Amino acid sequence: MEPYRNSADYQRRRPLQPPSQKPLLSVEALRRLLSDQTWDGGLIQRYVSRPAVKAYAFHLPTANATLYVWTHKDPKPTVETVERLLLWLGTPTEFTVHLWMCDTPRQITKDEWPSRITVNGGWAIPNTNSINVYREEEFERVILHESIHALGWDWQMSSTPPPCWQIEGELAPHLMEAWTECYAEWLFCAYYNISWQKQQAWQKQQALQILCRATSPWKEDTNVFAYYVVKVALAPHIEFLLPFQLGKTEEEKMFVRCELVSSTIDELRREAATVKPQAMSLRMSLRMSLRMSLL
Ligand SMILES: [Zn+2]
Repeated sequence: MEPYRNSADYQRRRPLQPPSQKPLLSVEALRRLLSDQTWDGGLIQRYVSRPAVKAYAFHLPTANATLYVWTHKDPKPTVETVERLLLWLGTPTEFTVHLWMCDTPRQITKDEWPSRITVNGGWAIPNTNSINVYREEEFERVILHESIHALGWDWQMSSTPPPCWQIEGELAPHLMEAWTECYAEWLFCAYYNISWQKQQAWQKQQALQILCRATSPWKEDTNVFAYYVVKVALAPHIEFLLPFQLGKTEEEKMFVRCELVSSTIDELRREAATVKPQAMSLRMSLRMSLRMSLL
């Protein structure tokens, strides 16, 4: 999409309805929508009930999509970004994005373990034309991640970790999230022209920080091991995995899940034993300042 050239061009993409103090969904409708997403629901409801937050609906003509956005800022830059991203990704027509620009950052202290409230940023139901994103911080990367789910580009993986990962404890069942997130970050880097090497260095810093906090048995309330550790082991092989995916035969799947991944997980565990926990951001895409600097 071309940027808005003038006010007439902006008018062409005018909101479907005028900005309103009222959310597009009633609190009751929102509660139903989020009935099994209680941790997100609290964050969203607290945000949309702030007086400065307004709700907008936009038709995005070049992507033939609809964006519902709740924000306390001028929505125009967000509308442009979402339209460009969807067009670039090639989402099908009548794709819908719900975007709550909650300003809660993904930040943990040196004594804190990652949890839903400091990690997650959206959800989507596979093979639907609709995604939901609820944080302003790196909403672009989350749009890519949730679109992968919505478009059915996920891997089909068993919900229990293979023995070769040597992990005991309670893992969230969506282990395919490791690939979904790796793929989303690779797309993010491709779109914003960010070095994949720098992205991998950031992934590794976060994996070490998480592994050095980990207790045995492992305990998580969201897919921490998949998002931050297994992803690091997949990332160096992205060019191979894009066409090969998880493999077709059992032997191929074993190769991807174990031979490709296990040695990196072991190395990370060894290195993490020498690392001290520090306060850190759990955002997965690089901040602009880190994108420009050498890690
Ligand atoms: Zn996901």
